Amino acid sequence: MTHTCVFFHAHPDDEALLTAGTMARLATEGHRVVLVLATAGEGGLAAPEHLARGLGGLRRAEARASARLLGCARVVFLGYGDSGHGSPPPEGSFAAADADEAAGRLADLLAGERAAVLTVYDPAGGYGHPDHVQVHRVGYRAARLAGTPVVLEATVDRDLLLRGIRWASWIHRLPPGFDRDAFHRAYAPRAQITHRVRVGQHWAAKRASMAAHVSQAGGGDSVRTLAALRRLPAPVFRQVLGTEWYIQRGLPPGTRLHHPLAAFNDGGNRA
Ligand SMILES: [Zn+2]
Repeated sequence: MTHTCVFFHAHPDDEALLTAGTMARLATEGHRVVLVLATAGEGGLAAPEHLARGLGGLRRAEARASARLLGCARVVFLGYGDSGHGSPPPEGSFAAADADEAAGRLADLLAGERAAVLTVYDPAGGYGHPDHVQVHRVGYRAARLAGTPVVLEATVDRDLLLRGIRWASWIHRLPPGFDRDAFHRAYAPRAQITHRVRVGQHWAAKRASMAAHVSQAGGGDSVRTLAALRRLPAPVFRQVLGTEWYIQRGLPPGTRLHHPLAAFNDGGNRA
């Protein structure tokens, strides 16, 4: 049996880093994969030539290219503005949007797609970007409204990340301005993670998805994360990018699943 899986992200390129391997794996297995982006990421950093051409349009095109490479059946932009770390978030931005209104729009899409699974972010919004925190808030509300049975929080194993950063700091210098302490609050501790999805076989698709975001090669809101990842020792790098992590709330503590659709008993294998 095939299912529709909706991956909800804040900005183009978030899907490449956090869930691209899972998306490629599900599409390869015949499931319908839908990418929903709250914003076009126009508030991200980029080289002046990209900014001059209008970053929003460029990043929408990059997201469509990334989605095609991952085998997505559909890409939807909710059309909110990128808050760009603004504090308070600017009017019209996703972070400033009414959560119920945004959830209603996402719920219509989930219902129309008869989605079996929705991915959101952990409560920290990964590294705390206000648009990411809003993805968590809006995503859960939408799933409740639409009756979507499974919500998975896309995250990173914080314990592994901190170990990698420690190693990287011994071997290389960390990027200037790199705030190591911020990672003690970022993403989620290992004990909370319920799904470890192996995506090593979809490595090429994941790398191609990352490469599709050309305008973000030298900037972007996840630049510090990407910079840190690039400095990890090779075995840790492969482990960090060859696994994707999710939290399904309400499962018994210690549950270890290796397939995003484990709840549906069609490929969900326990460790
Ligand atoms: Zn983002």
